[in-house]
Amino acid sequence: MIITKAKEKGDVVATLKDVKSVFLIGCSECASLCGTGSPEALAAMKETLEAEGKKVTGSMMAKTGCQVLGTKVELKPAKEEIDAADAILVMSCGAGTQAMVEVFKDKRVYPANDTTFLGNMTRFQQFDERCSMCGECIIDKTGGICPVTTCPKGILNGPCGGTNNGMCEVSPDIECAWAKIYARMERTGELDKMREIVPPKDYSKKLSPKVWVIEKKKEEK
Ligand code: SF4
Ligand code: SF4
Repeated sequence: MIITKAKEKGDVVATLKDVKSVFLIGCSECASLCGTGSPEALAAMKETLEAEGKKVTGSMMAKTGCQVLGTKVELKPAKEEIDAADAILVMSCGAGTQAMVEVFKDKRVYPANDTTFLGNMTRFQQFDERCSMCGECIIDKTGGICPVTTCPKGILNGPCGGTNNGMCEVSPDIECAWAKIYARMERTGELDKMREIVPPKDYSKKLSPKVWVIEKKKEEK
């Protein structure tokens, strides 16, 4: 899931300084789980903005905010409330905000959140970064644990000389990714794989912007 953090209220209010009325859009997916785009977050934002003298003309929870066409359809019933707003405040990730930029070509659209990383919810309200979307997954060679992301140095053949009793030299709060990889591969009977050198990655696969079109399979005759 995409992890978002709410911007400071003062920053959002400053962004909206030239705006008298706002329509709020939340997202039922990742941003809801992060508490940054949930119905409760929208209600709190409405309260904050009204206390600042702004008019909140309405709000809507998008099913999947980054889905441009689906969200456009979902917004149709709110047309009057949207028309009455000077701006749209999007409480989702950066992709969701830009989906709304695409939908509202002539209306101001602003983000309420900072988008931080692709992560896992490992316990209630805790999110850990596990994948940095490198475009060339190598965790088949590393026990299913990603050293590109979870080792601060991104070492492909570790550990480095700083590993210390299972912890990382960069911070005593971080478990050494390669100690975890070793322990996991020992448990799964794959330790011999640790002798294989993981080749340098092709970082051109990480270049942005990317586009991916899923081609329809041709029906076989
Ligand atoms: S190697 Fe790591 S960063 Fe790359 S795709 Fe796999 S999990 Fe993600
Ligand atoms: S101690 Fe482990 S996690 Fe930390 S930088 Fe070295 S190999 Fe990476």
